[in-house]
Amino acid sequence: MEIKQYLTTVNFTPSTNKQNKYIVIHYTANDGDTAQGNANYFHSINRNASANYFVDENEIIQVVPDNYIAWHCGAKTYVHPYCRNTNSIGIELCSRKDSNGNYYFKDETVKNSIELVCDLMKKYDIPIDNVIRHFDVTGKRCPEPLIETTAWEGYKTRLKNEFLGSNLDDNKEGDNLYQNINEVPEWAKNTIKKLTDKGCFGNVNKLNLTDEMLRVFVIMDRYIG
Ligand SMILES: [Zn+2]
Repeated sequence: MEIKQYLTTVNFTPSTNKQNKYIVIHYTANDGDTAQGNANYFHSINRNASANYFVDENEIIQVVPDNYIAWHCGAKTYVHPYCRNTNSIGIELCSRKDSNGNYYFKDETVKNSIELVCDLMKKYDIPIDNVIRHFDVTGKRCPEPLIETTAWEGYKTRLKNEFLGSNLDDNKEGDNLYQNINEVPEWAKNTIKKLTDKGCFGNVNKLNLTDEMLRVFVIMDRYIG
């Protein structure tokens, strides 16, 4: 899904060395608000709060760039030992209230957020265990619809499936075939260089190596030598 940008001019701290190690999920605690409505709200007036992204059932809007610090999980005391605004990306999901006054997310909103989280996990090499809730950082009941353990586990399962599925798609699309040493990714270069130097391949410009083959060669090189 396309990510729109409507960057705030005030609600963030610039940074030149931010490392994104966590993704923190929030809810807006509103009833039927939109990503654009939130982007407008945070756009040019200091709200002493923000997030990197707002997600609703129709779109994803980025308000603070990933490399800048959004103000989404700051607190006086923390329950999480490491996750802070300075090393995380904050994502707000627009919420709704049912007739009993309970907050919930529309399924499309959840789906859009999972797509976004998945992209960010890949982009910054963030493991699924580091996708956490505001609740896990400070103890605040946010995101309310995902506080219950089974609800959160359900979210993580969907995320895991999406992540695995999209990796398969990536391989299909790219069907990465490496033909010479220059095309081989860094992590496998030494190993393949050794093999080509030893004359293991008939034609060093037509290696026809897949990622799986690289993985096997590297593992053998590492453990068998
Ligand atoms: Zn929150």
